[in-house]
Amino acid sequence: MIVQRTFRRRIFINFFVVFSVFTLAVLGYQYDREKSYRTGQLENTLENISEVTHRYIEHKRIFESGDFKSLDTLKMLLPIENTRLTIVDMTGKVVYDSFVADVQPVENHLKRPEVQKALYSGKGTDIRLSNTTNQKFYYYAKNCKKYFVRTAALYNVDMAKFLKTERTFLVFVVFLFILMWVLLHFTTRRLSEFIVKLKDFALKAGQNEDISKMDSNFQDNELGVIRKQIIQIYDNLKTAKDELTSEREKLYGHLQVLKEGISIFTPGKNKILANSHFIQFINMISDKSTISAEHVFSIPEFNKVVEFVDKYRESDLQTQNKELPHIEFTIEKSEKFFHIRCIIFVDKSFEVLISDVTRPEKQRLLKQQLTSNIAHELKTPLSSIKGYLETVLNNPNIPAEKQTYFLEKAFAQSQRLTDLLNDISLLNNIEDAGGLFEFKPLMLKPVIRDAIENLKIRLTERNMDYKIDVDNEVVVNGNESLLFSVFQNLVENSINYAGNNTTISIRKYLEDNKFYYFQYTDSGSGIPEEHLPRIFERFYRVDYGRSRETGGTGLGLSIVKNAIMLHKGEISVKNRPEGGLEFLFSLAKR
Ligand code: ADP
Repeated sequence: MIVQRTFRRRIFINFFVVFSVFTLAVLGYQYDREKSYRTGQLENTLENISEVTHRYIEHKRIFESGDFKSLDTLKMLLPIENTRLTIVDMTGKVVYDSFVADVQPVENHLKRPEVQKALYSGKGTDIRLSNTTNQKFYYYAKNCKKYFVRTAALYNVDMAKFLKTERTFLVFVVFLFILMWVLLHFTTRRLSEFIVKLKDFALKAGQNEDISKMDSNFQDNELGVIRKQIIQIYDNLKTAKDELTSEREKLYGHLQVLKEGISIFTPGKNKILANSHFIQFINMISDKSTISAEHVFSIPEFNKVVEFVDKYRESDLQTQNKELPHIEFTIEKSEKFFHIRCIIFVDKSFEVLISDVTRPEKQRLLKQQLTSNIAHELKTPLSSIKGYLETVLNNPNIPAEKQTYFLEKAFAQSQRLTDLLNDISLLNNIEDAGGLFEFKPLMLKPVIRDAIENLKIRLTERNMDYKIDVDNEVVVNGNESLLFSVFQNLVENSINYAGNNTTISIRKYLEDNKFYYFQYTDSGSGIPEEHLPRIFERFYRVDYGRSRETGGTGLGLSIVKNAIMLHKGEISVKNRPEGGLEFLFSLAKR
């Protein structure tokens, strides 16, 4: 309602001012016209009186006789009451004055403005206060060649009188004013109703209320058009806002499932948004724990980011380049590797991305190491083969049995090369393409039996015994060839390193809901304690010479460990107090 009141009041005040100015202007104009009309009328009358007086003087030859008293008779006949009649001779001397009995002391009238004007142009007028009566008089002087006839009448064209005469006009004006007022009242009331409605409408739109269904009763005029426009703008805004919200939600959802930590900052380094990985990563990198994304700028490892952002904050380099400015670097913290990337956008807001590259980084290092190891491992049998073959080729005359000996040696080395390549490829498959191995419920006992059977001859040669304590109920979720490799490698190692007259034992010693737990032992001499933690590493051998002699590739236990891990199990190794090695491992049931 406040709006309505101020709006209407303003219209009324404006109207009042305009109307008053208009009325005053009309009255002023009217007053001016009235004044000049009255003056003209008065001048006309005085002119006539002067003419009559002049003729009377001439007719009665008064100037000659000096009987000016006879003019008193004329005075009685004059049409306007209180008309002052003065006769002034050409020297300015007053010879007769109807208001003064004795004209002798009256001062010279030659300097009177009306007389002066009459002297030069035949007649003259002046309006001034009379010294004698203290009233405003209209003076008219007529030059009659021998004398001046001056007549004067009360000049009474005053405002009060004028207004009195203009009463009808004033009443008309007041009536007009009231009429306009009433009209204005209704018009503005209607208008302000619309405006208040429009205001409520706009307010509701501003407060995000649904205005499209609002009963607004707007007519088909300009206000209706404004309403339609507001609805249109509101609808557009709402759609844009809804779209923005859904995009934002999508982005948020996307950010949360990302493996990377991401945070976007304003140019002033205030967080716009950050996902939980970002907070988690900066906590891993920082020595202090935090929940604020802005904390990243106080971590020394991120000094590069701060310098980079500060450098670009003041300059406008990035708008010139098509590619957005960015830096990338890697941080190593507590055995973990984080790849950091910072991108500055055109509006100078920027994003910091943190990805945990520990696994790929470690794998990269491992692969690097492995490649050089493989090259080294391959070199040995290859140079042996080359050596044997060169000997045979360079000495065509050596005895046949010697030749056969060298060729057999070369063959054995090529077999070793094949074993090595098979092991490398198996290991790579387990590591990089573990998902390609087919897993199915598998009774373990026959797999163990097959592995032993396969090595039976060598076991017998060494007079080795074996015990299998795994019953037929033991069914694991496994891949047959991998599990075969596991037992074959373990048994082969025992044959190679435990030695003659030893015993191998394989038993399931425990089970729970998810796993079977197995123990593998031999009664050999075990491994010196300091080597134990490393025997699952690729190409790690306790005694290099011995391992080569036995044809070991140094990959056997690596294959065992990786295969067991692919079966969701774990493996550990220790020396038995009574001598020999003991492996404990688990395999998932299903
Ligand atoms: P390799 O191919 O040389 O046998 P492995 O990875 O299978 O490689 O074994 C690594 C090392 O562990 C071997 O070189 C050997 O010295 C030692 N080792 C493995 N099994 C036994 C065992 N049962 N008894 C004693 N030493 C073993």
